Amino acid sequence: MATKATTAARTSVAKAGTAAKAAAGKTVKAAQAARAAKASRASGPADYDAIVVGGGHNGLVAAAYLARSGARTLVLEARNKTGGAATTEAPWPDAPDFRVTRLSYVMSLLPPTIINDLQLERHGYKIFPMGPYYQAFPEGGSIKLYADDAKRNYAEVSKWSTKDADAMPRWDAWLAGLADVLGPLLLTVPPNLGSRKPRDLEQTLRLAWRHRGLDVRTIADVTRLMTMSIADLLDDWFESPQVKGALAVNGVIGTWAGPYEPGTAYVMAHHSIGDVGDGHLGNWGFQEGGMGAVADAIANAAREAGAEIRVSSPVRQILVKDGRAAGVILENGQQLTAKVVVTSLHPRTAFLDHVGRDNLPGDFVQDIEHWKTRSGVVKINLALAELPDFTADPGTNLQEHHTGSVEMAPTMPYIERAFTDAREGRPAVKPFSDGVIPTAFDTTLVPEGYHIMSLFTQWVPSDWNQAPHTEELQAYADRMIDCYNEVAPNFKSSILHADIVGPYQMEHEYGLVGGNIFHGELSLEQLFHMRPAPGFADYRTPVPGLYYASSATHAGGGVCGIPGMQAARAAIADRRTALRGSRRR
Ligand SMILES: Cc1cc2nc3c(=O)[nH]c(=O)nc-3n(C[C@H](O)[C@H](O)[C@H](O)COP(=O)(O)OP(=O)(O)OC[C@H]3O[C@@H](n4cnc5c(N)ncnc54)[C@H](O)[C@@H]3O)c2cc1C
Repeated sequence: MATKATTAARTSVAKAGTAAKAAAGKTVKAAQAARAAKASRASGPADYDAIVVGGGHNGLVAAAYLARSGARTLVLEARNKTGGAATTEAPWPDAPDFRVTRLSYVMSLLPPTIINDLQLERHGYKIFPMGPYYQAFPEGGSIKLYADDAKRNYAEVSKWSTKDADAMPRWDAWLAGLADVLGPLLLTVPPNLGSRKPRDLEQTLRLAWRHRGLDVRTIADVTRLMTMSIADLLDDWFESPQVKGALAVNGVIGTWAGPYEPGTAYVMAHHSIGDVGDGHLGNWGFQEGGMGAVADAIANAAREAGAEIRVSSPVRQILVKDGRAAGVILENGQQLTAKVVVTSLHPRTAFLDHVGRDNLPGDFVQDIEHWKTRSGVVKINLALAELPDFTADPGTNLQEHHTGSVEMAPTMPYIERAFTDAREGRPAVKPFSDGVIPTAFDTTLVPEGYHIMSLFTQWVPSDWNQAPHTEELQAYADRMIDCYNEVAPNFKSSILHADIVGPYQMEHEYGLVGGNIFHGELSLEQLFHMRPAPGFADYRTPVPGLYYASSATHAGGGVCGIPGMQAARAAIADRRTALRGSRRR
């Protein structure tokens, strides 16, 4: 069966068709906006302590912390619902009982501090731990890899290479050791490296002191991890193409880089961190009710703390008065004021569109203009009548291999070929996929007996954010489905509905500029003190009173909430300092 293009994709085309009508209505809208602005000025601008732009999970975390600190806080979200890329939706109007976790699909990096501070479990945060990594090979056979079962991993890997099975425990221990070094850095506010201001120097020294225990070997290992490709790194450890393919996936997730590109070893480690320094993180898992339920839990916590959340309220401009953030202007012209503004939008939107080049230093503007924001990701969400029946592990009854990630990344050259296709300007002939079937645990998403399978796939060309490419996406999704059908012959015929979300839709409907899933690539030059720009990695911005909470800051991306928490902490600390100062005067 051929897949059906989504309603949403069709809507984008329809929207283009009505562009002329929209232009005609523009004058009317402008007049309405002017009237709204006048009315708002006449009644006096609304006054909040803090305004958060964007109701994605980071904006909501920031709002929850700000409200808990006693600030009168308002969240402004453009869409008709909160959550941003952490969203559960029913994309098929003719099958409203099927809900999909439409973009992001698994949890792992949300730290215990945030879960506990915001009491998220009480607000509905509930994770089902994922089962094993699973790959069925087109040439026959399969492999399963477990997060925490060395004995079973040995049995699985030795099916392909006993040498690799012997190496596996040493690899796991090596990686865990490095993750222990890198993990706590995720909760560290990056120092302003190179600055000679006393506060910056102190922070740099403090960071160096904290790592004084690292020995020559560990520093060498971290250097390797930060600079090597995942392919070269795995070649140093393993021999079997199947095992290397399985371990390479995390190195290229969401990345505009194939497995042979330097830096992809770090991306793998980013996805393997188990502890950010305040307690052990859960293994990868599915949120009950999909990723939208994570955002809902945070929104509930924010509301309970007193935050106001307005949806369908797109912001047009961040107000800067006398060099300070002063509030926002909405698309409808309404003006809202606050001394603290936190924005959680993509850096191009937040700074170039909303703050404006004239209000920012030239080198900062240039850094944001040069920000790399490609992915070539296509999300394919499928409603299934039955579970995939793999030739290597037969049966449509629920089995362990349905409960984790159901991959289509059989070898390193396969993954590399998919990237090379896209870099040369074509969608991958055989895309790679990180698939999951959340309904193996979560029965709230579908009518009884049915399933959702969510395929996170790569790559299409990096400029596909510029046009919908509806028909080509359809063909790409059909090819992806054929790849699974080769190893599970009931797959194609089990598909009831398909929802294909490409880079254009990610940018235009969700604000993910360039289609990058993290608001910006996790490439080495965009990490830590460089995220989003040198000198401004401490969640502050060149505009006093304006704070930055998006996934384009350190610890983003991913649904980890750390940028939101850190931006709120910076704002609260500055507010307290200012209050102390004004009391002394
Ligand atoms: C396909 C895909 C798969 C992913 N998979 C995973 C995964 O499995 N696990 C994981 O941890 N991470 C995953 N990620 C990454 C993760 O979802 C993001 O990094 C994270 O959700 C971003 O959160 P945020 O709050 O920083 O930004 P966003 O979620 O982008 O939120 C920004 C919000 O601002 C709103 N907005 C935009 N413009 C305006 C405006 N003018 N005015 C007001 N509001 C505005 C948007 O509508 C949005 O709600 C995935 C992302 C994608 C796209």
